[in-house]
Amino acid sequence: MSEQHFRPLKIRSPRGAMTTEIDWADGHKGVLPHEVLRGYCPCAGCQGHSGTIKFIQPESGDHEGRRNQLEVDAFEPVGNYAIKIVWFDGHDSGLYSYRYLRALCQCPECHKDGEDRGERPRL
Ligand SMILES: [Zn+2]
Ligand SMILES: [Zn+2]
Repeated sequence: MSEQHFRPLKIRSPRGAMTTEIDWADGHKGVLPHEVLRGYCPCAGCQGHSGTIKFIQPESGDHEGRRNQLEVDAFEPVGNYAIKIVWFDGHDSGLYSYRYLRALCQCPECHKDGEDRGERPRL
């Protein structure tokens, strides 16, 4: 695993999109459905203090509320190792390290062995 492997060059997340794409420095095209990004929000508020990261199904509630949980308002770089995601519903305490984002990748290449997204990402 080189440095390049964990360095995002470009994050593409058009307004209203439900999937974010990341161009990694090693040429990998990452695919991150927002349901996965939100469901694996690493903050203590979402994950509690159990120490293991698990998938939390975003609230289903009413249609609009759910949409707000799955739409990204902003990606804010934190140092040179992580990105903070600000969601439309105001949730902004999740710090996604580059390594973590890479582990969450859902592209066919990362998932060709039949892993499903229920599998816990490696940190
Ligand atoms: Zn969270
Ligand atoms: Zn991938």
